[in-house]
Amino acid sequence: MDGKNKEALKEIDRLTAKVDEVQENILKEILTQNSATEYLIKYMKGSKNMLEFKQSVPVVTYKAIRPYIQRIANGEDSSLITSHPITEMIMSTGTSEGKPKLMPSIEEDLDRIMFFVSLITPIMNQYVPGVDEGKGMYFYFVKKEISTPCGLPCRTAISRLLKSKHFKRLAQDPSNDNNTSPYQALLCSDISQSMYCQILAGLIYRHQVQRLGAAFASVLLQVISVLERNWVRFCNDIRTGQLDPIITDLECRSCMSTLLSSPDPCLANEIEDICSRVPWKGIFCQLWPRAKFIEAAITGSMAQYIPALEYYSDGKLPLVSNMYTSSECFFGVNLKPLCDPSDVAYTLLPNMGYFEFIPLGENGTMLMNVGEEDEVPNDKLVDLAQVRLGCHYELVVTTFAGLYRHRVGDVLQVIGFHNRAPQFRYICRRDVILSVDDDKTNEEDLQKSINVAKKLLEPYSALLMDYTSYVDATTMLGGLGHYVLYWEIRFHESSKADNQLANIAALDDKVLQECCITVEEELDYTYRICRTHNKSVGPLEIRVVEPGTFEELMDFFINQGASISQYKTPRCIRSEGALKLLNSHVKLSFISPREPK
Ligand code: AMP
Repeated sequence: MDGKNKEALKEIDRLTAKVDEVQENILKEILTQNSATEYLIKYMKGSKNMLEFKQSVPVVTYKAIRPYIQRIANGEDSSLITSHPITEMIMSTGTSEGKPKLMPSIEEDLDRIMFFVSLITPIMNQYVPGVDEGKGMYFYFVKKEISTPCGLPCRTAISRLLKSKHFKRLAQDPSNDNNTSPYQALLCSDISQSMYCQILAGLIYRHQVQRLGAAFASVLLQVISVLERNWVRFCNDIRTGQLDPIITDLECRSCMSTLLSSPDPCLANEIEDICSRVPWKGIFCQLWPRAKFIEAAITGSMAQYIPALEYYSDGKLPLVSNMYTSSECFFGVNLKPLCDPSDVAYTLLPNMGYFEFIPLGENGTMLMNVGEEDEVPNDKLVDLAQVRLGCHYELVVTTFAGLYRHRVGDVLQVIGFHNRAPQFRYICRRDVILSVDDDKTNEEDLQKSINVAKKLLEPYSALLMDYTSYVDATTMLGGLGHYVLYWEIRFHESSKADNQLANIAALDDKVLQECCITVEEELDYTYRICRTHNKSVGPLEIRVVEPGTFEELMDFFINQGASISQYKTPRCIRSEGALKLLNSHVKLSFISPREPK
């Protein structure tokens, strides 16, 4: 192991051995720097005392911060919330009253993020020696930038990183050519053109690729889908040494022309041979035979993509979920990156921000007692060094850039310790997503139930590719509102969309009806009481949508301003447009045949 890697691991050890001390210093530093801000003066009257902070500064959701953010966006001074100039606003996928949340960011945040990112390779290197050899094929995307009325750029966390001078320097250093995606293609804000070029580059370098990934698992399934539709084009480009005219972005054309400098019919034939074989089980390993692992977040709602990723890698490539981050702050790293997906735990790095936790009980039982907008008593919070094994918590963060005791909205469970640092399993975002009567189903409940139900598809070689839900309340008055699930199902044996539908039609009706009732029986006690005793909730419905629907749904949200790199299928649909889109693709519908037990 080289000196740099050793240093990084030593630093992790130092930080995790002294969690309380590091955290205390971070809070001290934040208070020292920011005590004169309007926000802190309001609650602490200029004091820099940590006890005073804990007693007087309220625990808040974004709603409480938004007025300050808006004032800064409109041109007021950053000193409303932080002593440093706010240089950009980071656009979160989380929304507040239908609009993306904007998180303040200061110049030095980038140093913290670069430090965080620099730990990933040394951690991996312990388990996969020579991890940085060969090339990495990572799919990242920037989003078209907007600015606040006073001209501050608003970007996603990934766009900020890709556009930073640190990254630019790395990307343009000729001695550092270990990524397949050309810098100009990464920076192209036309997502389809960027995706096309990044995949094509990955294919050109197929024999050198040793690791592949994206921020979230869902992006890799997008890659498969684009590959399915375009592999003939990719082969043609490689065979002729000419980029397809559908790519019109000049920067993309220019960087790809360097990669396609001469026709390579031999490589084109290899790829054609692999892609024309169906099914595509193991396609990742066939196209990128030296790949050692797949890197992407596969926890939380991303867990549902694990079977698909395992299918496309034929179970041969470990799935590595190595970081837990957000627009507010980069939180933690996975110190055992090759662990089983169900054991993934993130060790929060105590120097990234000041972390506190709202206790939610041993199994999250208190979750419902602390609603999203409920006031949280200040003395209920516990410190990072005080969380207890097995317990669930909601994460609260304080940053240098002006977030104070901000509820991130994520539910985490402590499942171990590294030195004195707790390691957290990511459970879900806390928000309740479905509710008709007293029933309150959150993302985790829904996902768990669907995980059980989708197993019923396995004997038919069918995979649940994606899902979402909504409450059909149209029958609520006088009738019963009910849960509707939209499922996109794919069959292994065939890659043809027309056959896919025929296959679904051929599935015994009973199978999907059984899936409906299985989901219901896995949902919680209150749901089942509402369904059976109170009869206030109607039978659950599964609507099977055409293949490709969820991709269209993603395009829909991207057109509305979502970012592809951060995109996560919403597990519940509230937008009328999105609902209309889904409903227009419904091919079959199934209703729960009986009351749940
Ligand atoms: P954003 O602010 O849009 O980047 O979204 C941040 C949110 O994404 C976090 O608060 C989590 O809810 C989710 N997230 C980030 N990293 C992971 C991960 N490794 N596994 C599951 N969810 C994650």
